[in-house]
Amino acid sequence: MEKNAWISASENERHEMNALGREYIRFLNRAKTERETVSFLKEQAREKDFADLKELGELKPGQRVFIEHKGKTAIAAIIGQRPFAEGFNIVASHADTPRLDLKPVPLYEAAGMALFKTHYYGGIKKYQWTSLPLSMHGIVVKKSGQKIEVAIGEDDNDPVFTITDLLIHLAKDQMEKKMSEGIGGEDLNILVGSLPLEPGPDKDKIKEAVKKILKEKYDIEDEDFASAEIQMVPAMKAREIGFDRSLIGAYGQDDRVCVFTSFRALLDVTIPSRTAVCVFADKEEIGSVGNTGLRSYLLENAIADLMNKNGRSDYYEVMQALRNSYALSADVNGAYDPNYESAFEKLNSSYVGRGVSLTKYTGSRGKSESNDAHPEYLARIRKLFDDHGVTWQVGELGKVDQGGGGTVAMYLANRNIDTVDAGVPVLSMHAPFELIAKLDLYMAYKGFGAFYKD
Ligand code: MN
Ligand code: MN
Repeated sequence: MEKNAWISASENERHEMNALGREYIRFLNRAKTERETVSFLKEQAREKDFADLKELGELKPGQRVFIEHKGKTAIAAIIGQRPFAEGFNIVASHADTPRLDLKPVPLYEAAGMALFKTHYYGGIKKYQWTSLPLSMHGIVVKKSGQKIEVAIGEDDNDPVFTITDLLIHLAKDQMEKKMSEGIGGEDLNILVGSLPLEPGPDKDKIKEAVKKILKEKYDIEDEDFASAEIQMVPAMKAREIGFDRSLIGAYGQDDRVCVFTSFRALLDVTIPSRTAVCVFADKEEIGSVGNTGLRSYLLENAIADLMNKNGRSDYYEVMQALRNSYALSADVNGAYDPNYESAFEKLNSSYVGRGVSLTKYTGSRGKSESNDAHPEYLARIRKLFDDHGVTWQVGELGKVDQGGGGTVAMYLANRNIDTVDAGVPVLSMHAPFELIAKLDLYMAYKGFGAFYKD
């Protein structure tokens, strides 16, 4: 504890950390939204002998199961030797990330340009989203039910999009505003074109031209945006950071770093003692709401579905299984940042390069909205990590009165499941380019693996 874990890492471990880092970078570049993440996981799961639960009969120990929910949430599980009623070992992360969503009527024209209106999703510092290359991801559902998938701006030959910022020369008034007000929500309008339609109507010539491209190239009509889910995200690629390449920088590492490590660790499991369950939730960034968020019954539903395959899914049995389950709420923590020392409390913060962070409680203003793990359970996890050579650290999120945040932990705990937060410390969390240390990535992977096998 409280030491830079690179020092104690063996040559072989360093090699493994770099290999895992490279795999992680490939994943980050492939999956920038929850839908893309779920489809990536599904594809990987299929390659690694996971079967769709719907296609299976009675479940036997070692059976690999994949459950997809609305294309945005997924659960992967490996059936254990012990009966379901004795409980599951659950690792739950989230695949949604802060971003800019298009409004239902996004397109308009102003000053010789076509623009898209957005409504941001999750907690962002709005000023960070201007002057960046943005890519467009998501789906548009036509009235016929036909789904059009969109991914523009990731290929080097694709165009990208951007939000303009005010030139410094004319920013006197803007620079005097509070940072939270320098760029407003309605200022996050995305530049998508400037070429007028010729010949065409005088008014809205540029907007009409963009509409024409959308129709001809993607079969998307203006009204179709009313039933769409289009997300604008940074078009930057994931990169190694530093002369020593010890860190990874990328968009959306909260919480894709835990999605990746928890899934990757599950793939190494053969026949666990208790059934190992890996949950990839949606909507965490806006409060775990909706029927793809963990406040919903989706976990109970999935557990009942699993148990039903073996004819044991009455209410009492499902409740018994939940009550006997253990969970890690796998989410990132804000790493101590020497540039912003005053926001952190040195003794209880997590640091990059010191391993997976165990967070007893999150929340804010007196632990409000947090799970606050039991010491008995924390002691078990401490021992488990120590016994398996998992370097870990404690991690409280910043100073007591400085703010705070929540995770899915409390919603797992609501199901009477013993839960603690465990995850990777992140610098610049929720910024368009977040950073983590490869060592912490590796220790999270190792920690989740030990937990499944316990
Ligand atoms: Mn998170
Ligand atoms: Mn977050």
